[in-house]
Amino acid sequence: MSQFVFNASAATVLSTKRSMKTLKSSPKMPVMFIGHGSPMNAIEDNAYRRSWQDLGKEFGDGKKYPTPSLILCISAHWITRGWWLTGMQNPKTIHDFGGFPQELFAQQYPAPGAPAVAEELSKQLVSPIPKGFVAVDMDKWGLDHGTWSVLKPMFPNANIPVVQLSMDYSRAPVEHLLLGQQLRELRHQGVLIVGSGNIVHNLRMVSNGKPYDWNIEFDAWTAAQMTDRNYDELANFLKLGKLAEIAHPTYDHYLPLLYSAGAADSKDNITTFNDSLTMGSISMRSVIWS
Ligand code: ZN
Repeated sequence: MSQFVFNASAATVLSTKRSMKTLKSSPKMPVMFIGHGSPMNAIEDNAYRRSWQDLGKEFGDGKKYPTPSLILCISAHWITRGWWLTGMQNPKTIHDFGGFPQELFAQQYPAPGAPAVAEELSKQLVSPIPKGFVAVDMDKWGLDHGTWSVLKPMFPNANIPVVQLSMDYSRAPVEHLLLGQQLRELRHQGVLIVGSGNIVHNLRMVSNGKPYDWNIEFDAWTAAQMTDRNYDELANFLKLGKLAEIAHPTYDHYLPLLYSAGAADSKDNITTFNDSLTMGSISMRSVIWS
């Protein structure tokens, strides 16, 4: 695994200012990173699910945030070669887990897709190093549980179109931050950007006990970088060596944070919620930039 250190802010940020023909301008939308944890959070009445329900109620006319015209979700669970956007009119609900009760498999989130937006966005986004393109998926993916387990409690009517953006895991973490920067302008065009993962995620070490020291340490390090708005440093997390390796044996759940942080701007207020550690080895820390 390469561990080069890269200053994303100094890099060329591509196509961040262009407006989209398929979207209308709007007041600035927030951008979020949601720690999703267990898929059971989608149906269990617990503090996490209640926080997502409460958050959803803050969107709407006269409320804290405008109603999004589109939700763009970057889920820990869609890993691809190259980058892809879901382009289908009716993305299917994907139950990408095993060993859970039937009630969880019965969940559906029938939000529409947005084929025209996906098509236009695929032409605007450029994977940075080396330059590449973002493709549109018409039939393979849909909405995985990283997306629907948090969106269903938040927006239960499923009437806001949802597009997912995949992550090319073969690319260095900084490239994910750079792609997130390209999403920033979408916030002025009615798009709610949601990164869905976990700031600490080690399923091999899940326990009923108290949080491991390394969970506390990595979570606190990440929180400090966000407080300092040191997003380049977030993308350099592999420099933490063994701490990063144990917090993320694979770092698919960390990468969505880089998209959300990339889409943040310097004027955003940063609000943290669900800043708790669970199952010994998972952090549920979630963030809203607004
Ligand atoms: Zn997950």
